[in-house]
Amino acid sequence: MDVIVGGGVVGLSIAWRMAREGRPVTVVDPAPASGASHAAAGMLAPVSEVTYTEGPLLRLGVASLRRWPSFAAELAADAGFEAVGGEPATRGLDLRSDGTLDVAFGADDLAALDELAAYMDKLGLRVERLTGRECRRLEPMLAPSVRGGLLAPGDAWVDPRRVTAALLTALERLGVPLVRARATELLRDGGTVVGVRLAPPDKSGGPGSAPVASGGGARAEEPAELAAERVVLAAGAWSAGLAEVPVRPVKGQIMRLRSPQPLLGRCVRGTVHGSPVYLVPRGDGELVVGATQEEMGFDTRVTAGGLYELLRDARELVPGVTELEVADVVAGLRPGTPDNLPVIGPSGTPGLTLATGHHRGGVLLAPLTAAVLLGEESELAALCSPGRFREIS
Ligand code: FAD
Repeated sequence: MDVIVGGGVVGLSIAWRMAREGRPVTVVDPAPASGASHAAAGMLAPVSEVTYTEGPLLRLGVASLRRWPSFAAELAADAGFEAVGGEPATRGLDLRSDGTLDVAFGADDLAALDELAAYMDKLGLRVERLTGRECRRLEPMLAPSVRGGLLAPGDAWVDPRRVTAALLTALERLGVPLVRARATELLRDGGTVVGVRLAPPDKSGGPGSAPVASGGGARAEEPAELAAERVVLAAGAWSAGLAEVPVRPVKGQIMRLRSPQPLLGRCVRGTVHGSPVYLVPRGDGELVVGATQEEMGFDTRVTAGGLYELLRDARELVPGVTELEVADVVAGLRPGTPDNLPVIGPSGTPGLTLATGHHRGGVLLAPLTAAVLLGEESELAALCSPGRFREIS
């Protein structure tokens, strides 16, 4: 049996794809879907996330975006979603593919967009350069000061909270056990990882105090150890606590605003006061505004300064945001790596596989990550191989 440590979008996606193939798998997480995946905006935007130095990340992102439609359709089916009123069942995940509009205000921004457009053109990626007027025709709520934009029509987005909820439902329907406990240590036999030690049950009786297994109808106290033929470490920003993997937490603050009418039809992003800001519309009228990027260790406090900057910058793009009700503010920890690429594959230690370090793109990269672990993407697997970092154990 494989044990997946971590039930965020990455660990749950791997578990679901494995269970679908009939492979025995168990997920261990004290609070599934509560990490970065709970905070994420859900942009599936490899094209508009591209920078000149990140060619390999772009390749991974484009490949994973290609997998998203079938991944979403199969997930919606396995979670029991149904098509409603002409809308496909994937609307239950809020999967939309109306593109991203990157906007510019000043001459420097416009020049940067021109350069980016030329670079993408060279890579054969579809983008359209728009004037300010064309941008406002697409998105009438944009500020009059927007002078131009770059539309990536193939970019998509999804609601990560709906995706993880659907993954948990699908796993339960497939009878996959979910052990609500923290893995404290990898168990080893000689040089081989043979399981995980679980945090001993806390007898206080508080929420989440005792490890319990659910899924397949089972709900029972778990032993303090879980044997595994293979442990897949998918504990996001916390992964380095269990194995030597160069993953660090990168804090992101993000807010959700509630709008009676949708303010935008697609994702809009731009650079304001030197920092990037984006707005992602949800099907239910919510507008997600994100996100800060801070090197603060395991700090998940939401700060006045962080929210101020987000709102100040978002208002420059779409002045109407200040009228909206605040629905939710949260800070999440992205699992960052030194080269911004994920770490997926055999660790070098027998019995231990890594699936972590997805940094800003774990939602986008979840389908590809599962495919790599199932041996479906050998060429791309080389780009994210743990072997590129020395002495991972
Ligand atoms: P997580 O979701 O953090 O899950 C890790 C899980 O491991 C948690 O549930 C935790 O409880 C569990 N865990 C930790 N330690 C242990 C242990 N010892 N034992 C058992 N379980 C353990 N990505 C995109 O693709 N698009 C976006 O638009 C986007 N926006 C983002 C916005 C913000 C503000 C942030 C913070 C991130 C964003 N990301 C986005 C990045 C994305 O959220 C992450 O890359 C992704 O969620 C990582 O998933 P994960 O499953 O590896 O980690």
